[in-house]
Amino acid sequence: MMIKLIEPEARFNKTVSELKKDRFYPDSKPVYPIDYELPFEYTCYHCGYKVSIRNQDLERHAKSNHSNLTDSERVLIEKFVAEHGLDEASFLDFECPECRQAVRVLYKNGPGGFSGMTYELKHVIELSDE
Ligand SMILES: [Zn+2]
Repeated sequence: MMIKLIEPEARFNKTVSELKKDRFYPDSKPVYPIDYELPFEYTCYHCGYKVSIRNQDLERHAKSNHSNLTDSERVLIEKFVAEHGLDEASFLDFECPECRQAVRVLYKNGPGGFSGMTYELKHVIELSDE
């Protein structure tokens, strides 16, 4: 099993996005998120399949330990993340629906704009059999 660390620019259409939230009053909780922006789009290097990731997906996975990968894939990636000191960010794990390529996207999320959230893709980790 090979693990590769990839710059997000090499796989994604963009690396920064913003999720805005509507509020009735500045101090109240956001009523609902508004996603004005086009989704992040990951292109699988292996098969060319394009995977869309919306701001809301990143919001849901922020600071979460949920993974969509198998236990063995997750353990390999987490060891790699720890060894390379990449673990400061949130992550989203997924498999390419076409070729099952396992991918982890590490990203930072923070306050942005008008009571919204900003997401910045920092690293992409890919597992492959090659
Ligand atoms: Zn693929």
